[in-house]
Amino acid sequence: MTANPDLVAQGESAVNARGDVPTVKLLIDGKFVESQTTEWRDIINPATQEVLARVPFATAQEVDAAVASAKEAFKTWRKTSIGTRARIFLKLQQLIRENMSELAQILTREQGKTLPDAEGDVFRGLEVVEHAANIGTLQMGEVANNVAGGVDTYTILQPLGVCAGITPFNFPAMIPLWMFPMAIATGNTFVLKPSEQDPMVTMRLVELALEAGIPAGVLNVVHGGEDVVNAICDHRDIKAISFVGSTRVGTHVYNRASLAGKRVQCMMGAKNHAIIMPDANKEQTLNALVGAAFGAAGQRCMALSVAVLVGEARNWIPELVEKARGLKVSAGTEPGTDVGPLISKAALQRVEGLIERGVQEGATLELDGRNPHVAGYEQGNFVGPTIFSGVKQGMAIYEQEIFGPVLCVMDAADIDEAIEIINANPNGNGTAIFTQSGAAAHRFREEIDVGQVGINLPIPVPVPLFSFTGSRASKLGDLGPYGKQVVLFYTQTKTVTERWFDDSTVAHAPNTTISL
Ligand code: NAD
Repeated sequence: MTANPDLVAQGESAVNARGDVPTVKLLIDGKFVESQTTEWRDIINPATQEVLARVPFATAQEVDAAVASAKEAFKTWRKTSIGTRARIFLKLQQLIRENMSELAQILTREQGKTLPDAEGDVFRGLEVVEHAANIGTLQMGEVANNVAGGVDTYTILQPLGVCAGITPFNFPAMIPLWMFPMAIATGNTFVLKPSEQDPMVTMRLVELALEAGIPAGVLNVVHGGEDVVNAICDHRDIKAISFVGSTRVGTHVYNRASLAGKRVQCMMGAKNHAIIMPDANKEQTLNALVGAAFGAAGQRCMALSVAVLVGEARNWIPELVEKARGLKVSAGTEPGTDVGPLISKAALQRVEGLIERGVQEGATLELDGRNPHVAGYEQGNFVGPTIFSGVKQGMAIYEQEIFGPVLCVMDAADIDEAIEIINANPNGNGTAIFTQSGAAAHRFREEIDVGQVGINLPIPVPVPLFSFTGSRASKLGDLGPYGKQVVLFYTQTKTVTERWFDDSTVAHAPNTTISL
């Protein structure tokens, strides 16, 4: 990977070669440092099994040092002017654009998704950086004049202090960028704990953030797994935690960090259903389904993993299978690839195991993507597009988040039955309806208990003018990442009620007592 030349010159690159395998650095107090830990994990190219680098599991002392640096930096950062904060993110968005192709290549090598998807991953994060550059208008309070005679009340939104972010493997650029730009733009300092499976693109973005002008200590990075996450949950100097990842881990983080008195937001797992009405535009709908079910190898929290075919739409299965069969499975760096590898051998085994359970539990395997031949990448973690029909509630392939290129197809007699199925599923991350009926779409929008709702749109991820959301098992905490909500998440509202005595008039008007 190409690191920032200025930082390399100082020996501070986020990833340096040590022996023949580079090591990923911690960022503490503005310096990229080698961890003193004895626990390391390989970062592996999922298409080739090449070891790209080694990532440390930081020690408790290193986590403490990162938090201490952030705490010290907060003393001055909280007083930094709006313009100074905003301009850093204006610069950062420019640097990300200039380095887009390099960022996408790093991301594809360690995560596996196609290069266009990797650029999309970076771009969706870039949009949040642009949003952070608008912090001047986003962090304004409210004023009420004369709440009593001569008395005004106003609110100010003040930063909390040290905040932390814990991110998943599937969007290693976008999700760290959901977090640290908005936290820092609102005047907080930050400790980021990226996914240990693919932290290299995150570290390149962090290098760019320093180059854009984020001062020492304002942004820190520690790597690791369960122990580091628990240390963050328990740390008394961390005020708020933003988590994105699985429901199991997110629930643990929410409970543990809340008990330690922190503000917590957890965006978690999913089982996203699409309702296909028989009046939908067939070609558009099938193309959308195939892209949303199998793109990024199904490793999106917004992947459409269940299609509920209503009435006559159930006859569309053969055409759906043909479209899915036509997708190209290969390394993300190969031109024309539609479906890249899964993140790890463990993920591959889990997905293959679930496909086998689907067969055993009686679902019909319409398309079996197991063991595809991928010329030149025989060691890659590949599963091709896989489709089950006749899927029922209670089957493991329905109840679990597969997080692979596997689409479950169910039937429903009408829209009411389809909505009932979706609302009975514990997850409430994303959903979509495909129809030409405004009335059906309206009914769906009103009745469905899911955070992100798409109408003839398969993956309705909100742009940062809005906030990402979720309901039921997909989200804990009331405020979402980015958008307006995250400004409230990362700030404390202070409400000031004030009056001033005008010396020239007070002497003539002694009765200034007010009653509220
Ligand atoms: P994960 O929960 O395994 O890991 C997320 C983070 O938690 C990582 O940083 C990891 O190091 C840490 N972690 C893992 N195990 C831990 C443990 N036992 N204790 C404490 N911390 C632990 O998630 P993942 O596999 O990296 O990502 C995929 C999941 O993330 C899917 O469930 C997906 O739906 C979800 N996701 C949700 C959203 C959303 O916005 N709702 C977005 C992206 C991904």
